[in-house]
Amino acid sequence: MLDFRMVDSSPTRAPSPLLETLVVGAGVAGLTCAGALRSAGRQVVVLERAHGIGGRCATRRFDGQGVDFGPLFAHGHHPAFLKALREVEAEPLRDWPRRVEGGGPPCQPGALEPTVRRVAFAEGMKAFPRHLARGLEIRLETRVTGIRAVPGGFEVVAGDGPPLRCRDLVLALALEQTRRLLDTLEPFPQAAGLRALLGLFGSVPCLTVMAGYALDAPVPAWDVLYPEASDALQLVAQDSTKRAAPRFRTFVAQARPKWSRQHLDAPTEQWGRELLDEAAGHLGPWAATPLWTYPHRWRYARLGPTSELAEPLRIEFPGGARLGLAGDVFSPGGGLQAAWLSGIRLADRFLQEPS
Ligand SMILES: Cc1cc2nc3c(=O)[nH]c(=O)nc-3n(C[C@H](O)[C@H](O)[C@H](O)COP(=O)(O)OP(=O)(O)OC[C@H]3O[C@@H](n4cnc5c(N)ncnc54)[C@H](O)[C@@H]3O)c2cc1C
Repeated sequence: MLDFRMVDSSPTRAPSPLLETLVVGAGVAGLTCAGALRSAGRQVVVLERAHGIGGRCATRRFDGQGVDFGPLFAHGHHPAFLKALREVEAEPLRDWPRRVEGGGPPCQPGALEPTVRRVAFAEGMKAFPRHLARGLEIRLETRVTGIRAVPGGFEVVAGDGPPLRCRDLVLALALEQTRRLLDTLEPFPQAAGLRALLGLFGSVPCLTVMAGYALDAPVPAWDVLYPEASDALQLVAQDSTKRAAPRFRTFVAQARPKWSRQHLDAPTEQWGRELLDEAAGHLGPWAATPLWTYPHRWRYARLGPTSELAEPLRIEFPGGARLGLAGDVFSPGGGLQAAWLSGIRLADRFLQEPS
């Protein structure tokens, strides 16, 4: 059930009124920022290029059964982030994964440390962004391709319609997507410094395969396996252990960054097959022939090592317009917690200084 408002973004000739705040990106960072601004009474519109919300916090449904193909679970220690997770109206699976095997590194350093809280959701990780999206005005399938500073605000080229005008603009995207959009903004005083700063960091890709089997397929004794010796596999997760009444036994295989980079532009069927075969090497030969399989290429999955800034950025433009940058690179630690914190902190910074 959708409880955010989707708005028709089909072309229209009517001039766009000046919006108070436009947020580009309906991932965790953008939704969090938009929600906090809206709660404080600001007018906010979110633009999202995809046909759904959530960005990398993604769940796909197969015959009604969710499979998480971005983060498998949320983890963190920041009290406000943990509170936000507790508020999600979905059945929480605390401390998932309980059964972890293998000595390979987890996807995020520290994800499995005893002081870190973990939670997944029985209906899928997308429950989190869906909760964050409540009450927001979100224009789906609206890709932003250019931004321009105009007196007192910004013009944003989005979809096929006329440019949208706003006073404050928030970019809440993967790092490389932010850099690309900033390149369309004609030089402004901080441009060179900002480009140099953001150029220091980078995301790593993650080739991912989801696979479904009959429920009588053998059951491994782990929720997540980190196969230390594999050059290809970062992890294999038994996703169906998160589901209340699974119809399939489902597994998700995520490739290591190096292997993903090497195979990023290879045909999908080729790397999908190789990854599945590698997973079958750990599960058993039966796993090479699933009932269904679905590969997904994440070009910008997670931040590379040491890719993080302490705070979201806010840049003043002439006439009182403000550009804000949020997303997982703009808070320590990366991942969902950082994305969420960057959104909250950017909204705070916008609200502290009256517009
Ligand atoms: C396979 C995988 C495993 C992961 N594992 C973990 C983990 O274990 N723990 C953890 O904490 N994190 C993990 N992450 C990372 C985590 O998912 C991200 O850090 C977090 O979701 C980033 O949120 P965000 O809002 O910053 O960006 P995103 O989720 O990328 O949101 C950006 C949004 O902007 C949209 N967009 C992009 N360009 C445009 C445009 N031009 N116009 C309009 N919209 C646009 C995108 O479609 C997207 O919806 C994982 C990610 C992946 C892919």
